Amino acid sequence: ETVLERFLPDERATLRLGEDLALALRRGDVLALHGDLGAGKTTLARSLIRALAGDPELEVPSPTFTLVQVYEGRLPIQHFDLYRLSSEEELDELGFDDALEQGAALVEWPEKAGHRMPQTAIRVELSEEGDGRRVRIVAPDPAAGARISRSFA
Ligand code: ADP
Ligand code: MG
Repeated sequence: ETVLERFLPDERATLRLGEDLALALRRGDVLALHGDLGAGKTTLARSLIRALAGDPELEVPSPTFTLVQVYEGRLPIQHFDLYRLSSEEELDELGFDDALEQGAALVEWPEKAGHRMPQTAIRVELSEEGDGRRVRIVAPDPAAGARISRSFA
């Protein structure tokens, strides 16, 4: 298990982290984005998706109501926001399990998926600290942890 931690003093630092993580991601990686409302999950996801898509101006709406948005890029990216998920059956309708295998997946409110989140998912925990945010990244898989450590330097 790899654990990394960093203080993100401003929004720019969160955007930069998204760009760094984009370099580390491989097919099949799942990022579980933990944090309260306003912690910066969508900001991070947006930056990561733009970097993977190679388009800094790509529209990346929060998938609060659609639950998922799909993007093409260096690898396909599925951006989930499960805040409004009402049942586990809804995960089946979204094709959640297959989606996680197709490319990279970013999941906001992963606790809503319960045991359906893979054990190997990379946890990204965001919390408010003063005017900024603290991020803690936990990668259970050593290979994924090593990739992320390199891009996190
Ligand atoms: P979430 O998706 O977790 O609800 P958002 O990504 O919508 O949160 O971000 C909420 C607010 O936090 C945005 O206004 C964003 O600019 C701000 N924010 C993001 N990262 C930081 C940071 N490191 N320091 C201060 N503000 C930040
Ligand atoms: Mg959000």
